[in-house]
Amino acid sequence: MSIAEDRETPAVPAGRTEVEVAIVGAGLAGTVLATTLANAGRKIALVDPHRIHHDEFRAEKTRAEQMGLFEKLGLGPAFRSLVTPMTDINVFRFGKFFERKEGPEFAFSYTPLVNGLRSALPPQVPLTVGKVAEVTTGPDRQRLVLTDGSVIEARLLVVATGYSEAVRRAIGVERIDESKAHSLSTGFDLAISPREFGPPLTFYGTRVADRIPFITIFRIGERMRANMFVYRTVADPWVRDFRENPQKMLLELMPEIAERCGNFAIASEVDVRQVSLTTTQGHRRDGVVFIGDAFATTCPAQGDGIHRVLTDVDRLTTHIPAWFATPGMAADKICVFYDDPIKVAADAKAMRASIYARQITVETGLEWRLRRLRNNTARRLMILARRFREAGKPSDAAPAVTGVAFDRTDEAGQELPAGPRLGT
Ligand SMILES: Cc1cc2nc3c(=O)[nH]c(=O)nc-3n(C[C@H](O)[C@H](O)[C@H](O)COP(=O)(O)OP(=O)(O)OC[C@H]3O[C@@H](n4cnc5c(N)ncnc54)[C@H](O)[C@@H]3O)c2cc1C
Repeated sequence: MSIAEDRETPAVPAGRTEVEVAIVGAGLAGTVLATTLANAGRKIALVDPHRIHHDEFRAEKTRAEQMGLFEKLGLGPAFRSLVTPMTDINVFRFGKFFERKEGPEFAFSYTPLVNGLRSALPPQVPLTVGKVAEVTTGPDRQRLVLTDGSVIEARLLVVATGYSEAVRRAIGVERIDESKAHSLSTGFDLAISPREFGPPLTFYGTRVADRIPFITIFRIGERMRANMFVYRTVADPWVRDFRENPQKMLLELMPEIAERCGNFAIASEVDVRQVSLTTTQGHRRDGVVFIGDAFATTCPAQGDGIHRVLTDVDRLTTHIPAWFATPGMAADKICVFYDDPIKVAADAKAMRASIYARQITVETGLEWRLRRLRNNTARRLMILARRFREAGKPSDAAPAVTGVAFDRTDEAGQELPAGPRLGT
């Protein structure tokens, strides 16, 4: 199978390398996998067209659960050195203080994160800078020909090329749109000094017509950063207006932000990125595994992308020793990874949360209006109960918050605790 647009193979082939696992794509998934497998003694080749990961707007925040996975994979110290930890995230709903989330969460810019993890690659894994021109996969041997003519042969090929389609197409797998143009992620800096800023803040949208689940404001190093998610397409005139005057529009949408962030100004361009929910078809084949965004994409608002990446790496590194213990690399071995219950559950949760969060934010059918009413009534009662408590009233004077449960997932896709519950 060849990648026509990349045909630049020189007359004299540049060399041949034989490894156990060839990984194509050195983003988060490929780099973490290469490190983990090399540390386990596997011979690895890691290929990416760019020595330095290009500057792009991607994940900027992750949670304690993912830090646990970085630790498990032996990358805890490297990850910690690249991120800004945060605790006590203050959450606002209906313009009022709702709850304090203890965290921890971790903030970062994606490009320095990937580049930092690449610099932590073990010395036995040099990054091969090159483009794949040809891919051949089979039940025993996998073969990559790069555009400079060099050849990499491996028992197992891992495709970790993110959104890029070239290698996937050459192998013959197809991306399926589960929800096209599902959401927009926006990111911008606020002209506030992190030293003047208190704890990180999250403001949930109030009006269905705004199509905004939430905005979150947090520190990355010495920058104050905002991520806002919107259920619109990039062609929507709203996007152009927001890009042109983000401060004015934010103040109209959520005046409570100004109360917390003072007379803030926007200190950067507004990054905007459209994301579709996608899965893969035709991937159950000999010799090759698809991981991370090369396998599926979910909504950034739920912050599950990194969890899926790390789960893929964790499960793959668990299965690989058994695969290498016997001859061949036929599809029946590979399918053990795709059917791994932990992977299946992580992918399913991310997809379910992505779809639910959009529905509960923008759907206007009766079922969704009722669900919103139930959730918002419970939340308003919680705010009221806190006010009673803070006013020093005896706790039995506060409205009882027991009985009717919230939905299990909120607009940010986070699993809610068993409560809170509305009066009996
Ligand atoms: C705007 C946005 C915000 C997000 N926010 C969050 C968040 O807050 N939290 C969260 O958990 N997730 C978030 N995500 C999702 C998260 O960023 C991704 O799930 C994750 O980064 C995927 O990593 P990856 O390694 O699979 O892909 P990538 O990081 O895209 O890596 C792909 C690599 O493949 C290389 N490549 C491409 N083509 C080829 C080729 N032909 N040959 C060789 N190499 C190739 C690229 O150069 C790149 O290095 C967000 C996503 C977006 C788009």
